[in-house]
Amino acid sequence: MGAWIKGILLMLGISFQLIYGSPTLSKPAGPYTFLLPPGAVIIDPGHGGRDPGAVVSHQGSEVFEKDIVLAASLMLREYLQQQMPHIEVHMTRDNDNYFTLQQRTQQANSVIPPEGTSRVFISIHANAAPAGSAAGFEVWRYPGRKVQRFLTSEVKDPYFEGLTDSFNLLLQQELEHADSLLAESMHAELARSLEGITPDRGIREENFYVLRFARMPAVLIEMGFMTNPEELEMLLDEQHLEAIVRAVGDALQRFSESLP
Ligand SMILES: [Zn+2]
Repeated sequence: MGAWIKGILLMLGISFQLIYGSPTLSKPAGPYTFLLPPGAVIIDPGHGGRDPGAVVSHQGSEVFEKDIVLAASLMLREYLQQQMPHIEVHMTRDNDNYFTLQQRTQQANSVIPPEGTSRVFISIHANAAPAGSAAGFEVWRYPGRKVQRFLTSEVKDPYFEGLTDSFNLLLQQELEHADSLLAESMHAELARSLEGITPDRGIREENFYVLRFARMPAVLIEMGFMTNPEELEMLLDEQHLEAIVRAVGDALQRFSESLP
């Protein structure tokens, strides 16, 4: 081996050591991991205020998606507080106020989960389609395999302060894995709970703003179609929302247990 090659390798080794503290690439200790059981959940009821979401008429009056998803989200908060008191529950809104998608993700990213735990983002929506026959629930996740998230260069976040680009790829892969586990857990429990009640439209992927910029495992749940008269009745029924809420709670448990 030529001396100049040795010199370059030595320099690389030294810079590696300067960056990572040791020649082997390893993650720093601390909060830089997504593969921990959830200790904080951020519930995001879609829309709100001047943004009603889907609007349909029901018995002569208008029904707004923002109200249905807020009702479901408040029930989810109560359920988690009672059944899973070890998990902190945060909400991007708990009233009829309007918040931008950026405000929602910034609020979620400002949550510091208890030590040894991670945080999870759950956005709650109800669907609409031109065809009144469209029916079923959907679980949406970020298409991490196709579109990478750059954790260091996007929205600034105290949770990831000090994170270097070198760990970006490692963390992206971990987040993608955590996203998969969360979406699979959500889908499995909702499918189990809603079997024979509303069709299963599966796990879907989209580059939704809240999924992209929430720096944590994140899912968006479309509970059912407001434009389908039968499903609208279900979405206005507290017992049906309770079944969904219990499934989401079970899914968080399942997600915890599925972590490597
Ligand atoms: Zn929506």
